[in-house]
Amino acid sequence: MKNLHFLKANQLEAMYIPGDWGIYIHVPFCVRRCKYCAFVSTVRRPVPDWEYARDICTQFEMQKPEKAHWTTLYLGGGTPTTLSDEALVYILDYIGASLDSDVEITLEANPEHVTCERAQTWKSAGITRISLGIQSFENDMLQFLGRGHDRSAALNAIEILAQSGFEEISIDLIYGANPGNDSAFEVTRWKSTLQLVKTLPVVHLSCYELTLEENTPLWSVQKKGQPILCDEDAILEMMACIEELSGMSQYEISNYSRDGYFSRHNVSCWAGLPYLGLGAAAHSLVRSEGVIERRANLSNVRKWMLALENEPKQFSLDFCEKLTIETHLAERLMLAARTRFWWSPEAIANSLKCSELPFMNNLMTAVREGLLETQGGLFRTTSKGIRLNNRIDELIFI
Ligand code: SF4
Repeated sequence: MKNLHFLKANQLEAMYIPGDWGIYIHVPFCVRRCKYCAFVSTVRRPVPDWEYARDICTQFEMQKPEKAHWTTLYLGGGTPTTLSDEALVYILDYIGASLDSDVEITLEANPEHVTCERAQTWKSAGITRISLGIQSFENDMLQFLGRGHDRSAALNAIEILAQSGFEEISIDLIYGANPGNDSAFEVTRWKSTLQLVKTLPVVHLSCYELTLEENTPLWSVQKKGQPILCDEDAILEMMACIEELSGMSQYEISNYSRDGYFSRHNVSCWAGLPYLGLGAAAHSLVRSEGVIERRANLSNVRKWMLALENEPKQFSLDFCEKLTIETHLAERLMLAARTRFWWSPEAIANSLKCSELPFMNNLMTAVREGLLETQGGLFRTTSKGIRLNNRIDELIFI
C-alpha cells in the first residue's frame, strides 16, 4: 500500500495540498529512434551530458518558486539513462538539496542501460522508482518496433533492479501492433505477456495502444499498404484482460498498479498540482498569486541551452499561456475523470476559489450515460467511462 496513504479516503483531491509542487526533467536524448516514436528526442553521440546537467540546475535555480514544497521529481524523456551516472548524480545532488524528505524520485530507463553497478548508483543517489521502457517481451515485436533490447535484456533488467533493492519497478508495454497481420495471434501473445508480468517483481504497469503518428517509420510502412495495427475487436479484447491477467488494478486509462503503488508524480498532476518542467521541451503548470500558466520550454536542445546560458533569468520558452479559472477548472475535471479515484467537483472548484460549478449539469449527463457514478457529492469514472473517456471530455467542454 506504498502510496495509498497519500490519497486519503481514495479521493483524488486529497493529493492537492497548496504549496506542493512536482518537478519534471526532460532528457531529450536517445540512442536510436524507435519506429513508432513522435516524442521530442534526438539521437546524439556523445550526449552533452555535463552541459545539459548544468543547464537543468541553472533553470531550477532561476525559475523555482520561492516557497515550493517539492514532493515528486520525474526524470523522463527521451531516454534519461543516456546521461552518464555522474551527470545524473550531479542533477540529483543539486536539486535534491531542496526536496522533501519523503520525495518520490522516478527515473525512466531503457533495459539495455541497466547494470548492477548503475542500479546501485541510482539507488544511492536517492532514486525511489524506476520506470522501464520494455514495450514487449517478444524479440520479433521488439525488432518491429525498433527497440534496442531483447527479451533477455528486459528480464535481466527487472531482476537486477529488484536485487538492487528497488521496491517500485514500473514497466511500459505497447499493445495493438500486428507485424504478422494476425490479430488473433497477437491477442494470444498479449495474454501470455500479461501472465508473465504477474510473475515478475514489478508493482506498476503502463499499457499504451500503438498509434501511428505521422512521419514515423511505421506510419510510412502502413501508407504503403502493409497493415500494422490489430483490428478493433482484438484491441478491445487486449484492453479488457489487462487487470485480470496482470493482477494489477487500473487507476487511470493507461496505468495499473499492485497494492496501491501508483505513480505519485502522475497522480499529483491529475489532481492539478503545479509542476516545474526543466530541460528542452519540458512543460510546466505554474500557479502563483492567482495566475495559472502553462509553459513549454524551447524544444530545440541547442536553442534551449543557448537561451538559458545567455539569459538565465528569462524562461527560454516556446510558449506561455495564461489559463482562465474556467478553463483550468474544466481541465482539472477532465484529468480527474481519467482516473478511477473518487473526486469532488466542489472541492476542485474551491481550490480554485471558484464559487460556481458551471459543468455540474454536464457531469450529471455523464452519470445518466453510465460514464460516471456519483455518491454523496463525489464522482468516479466507471469502466465504461474509462473506455469512452473522450465522451466525458466532450461533455465537460460543451
Ligand atoms: S526510447 Fe522512447 S523517446 Fe527514445 S525514440 Fe524510443 S520511444 Fe522515442
